[in-house]
Amino acid sequence: MTSVMKRQNGGGNPFQQHRLLTQIKDKPISFVRAKNPEPVAIKPASYILIKPKQREEEDTSPGTTLSAATPTNFIPLSATLDPGSRSPSKIQKAWKKGTPSPAGLINQGVTCYMNSAVQLLMHMPAMSNYLADILLAKKYPGSVTQVFAQLYGKLFGGKKNIFPRQLIGRLDDINCMMSEWNQEDAHEYFMSLMSRLQEDSTPKGEKLNSSVIYDMFGGNLEQVVVCGGCGNESVTKQDFYDLSVNLDEKKPEGRISLKRCITRFFEEEQIQKKDGYKCDECQKTTSAKKTSRIHEFPEHLVVHVKRFKFVNDQPRKMGAPLDYPADLDLGHYSRDKQRAGVVPYKLIGVIAHCGRTTGSGHYIAHVRQPNGKWATYDDDLIEPLSEKKALKEEDAYMLMYQRLTPQASKSKSASGPKSVAMGTPKAAGKVTKPVVKTGKGQRKMADIDNIFASAKRKKNSGFV
Ligand SMILES: [Zn+2]
Repeated sequence: MTSVMKRQNGGGNPFQQHRLLTQIKDKPISFVRAKNPEPVAIKPASYILIKPKQREEEDTSPGTTLSAATPTNFIPLSATLDPGSRSPSKIQKAWKKGTPSPAGLINQGVTCYMNSAVQLLMHMPAMSNYLADILLAKKYPGSVTQVFAQLYGKLFGGKKNIFPRQLIGRLDDINCMMSEWNQEDAHEYFMSLMSRLQEDSTPKGEKLNSSVIYDMFGGNLEQVVVCGGCGNESVTKQDFYDLSVNLDEKKPEGRISLKRCITRFFEEEQIQKKDGYKCDECQKTTSAKKTSRIHEFPEHLVVHVKRFKFVNDQPRKMGAPLDYPADLDLGHYSRDKQRAGVVPYKLIGVIAHCGRTTGSGHYIAHVRQPNGKWATYDDDLIEPLSEKKALKEEDAYMLMYQRLTPQASKSKSASGPKSVAMGTPKAAGKVTKPVVKTGKGQRKMADIDNIFASAKRKKNSGFV
């Protein structure tokens, strides 16, 4: 929906307007089956009856910050330096002080799926800092990464609205099954774009998990299958970039807990003999038990709530309201039981799908802005949002949590060769892979500062 239409509809809640409009318009749009298979096979969810929503009274205090305190010995989200928990670190997870809020994204068709995914990525400090590096160093010319970095420069350049023409023009490169004229799946677009950025950033001849994108999103799962016949344990490891969780829990009141969904994801799974598991040890096809545990924790946890299902080849949306926390602890799902309770994450963004069908509806993003306050990005409309409301989006479809870095990582980083320098103009055209340098945190931030200043200077010369 365009901003003109929004204005013509007068004031009031834009989400309600979207719902009403999508019900009225309801134009036929083809649905494309997801191209990427799910990383872990999970039982199909049962259908949950959609109930009318009972929204609470509006919270009139806009833009309040997260109330839950940062656990002791962890770097708060408000810090200005945060190298992340890994060593060596290629990322910088803190916003530079004074970073402006990104502009809105104009939707001239049905590209809200794209706009919401882009805003979620742009509101990740680590992604923004990386894109600043790409833009300054003019890395990967002609690539989707370069186009995305140019969009970063425009979004943070002081304009109110941007039409992401160049990024839309690269949709075929990002996911050739998608069309800018169809309502597509925001999660699928998000993962396709991330995958493209990862391919661009992986040095030739190296594995995908050597890329900076793995350092932002990647984690590693350890899967243990215990043979029901001989008791042999078979252990495999698998990288993951998001968790796709089922909404298959029925409750009388119809509400779903995200924590419960994640717990179910990690619960022991019974493999039946008819499923065809063959044990490497005893060579028999037998029953088995499978459990997944986190071996390496991601710096950013993307949780995809599987609201869209194919039932009898027909797409169907599961509208159950989702309850999700501001603070999440993944330590409970660690391979190492000692970690239980000590791997904290904080919510930094939510993508919601409003509407009751897969072919219509509308995507919006609730995000934590660089100033620590929350806002809703509804295409080109940006509205302040209280933390309370940010945590009450019942239509939540994707959530992004940022891992809190132990304070020790900060001090280690200052003395060790850990951080990768953000690009500098001098490096333009030369740097093709991440360069490990020492203690460049201050320079990184100065470089980002240049981007804001440069973008503002070029504002009237076609740059933004
Ligand atoms: Zn066996």
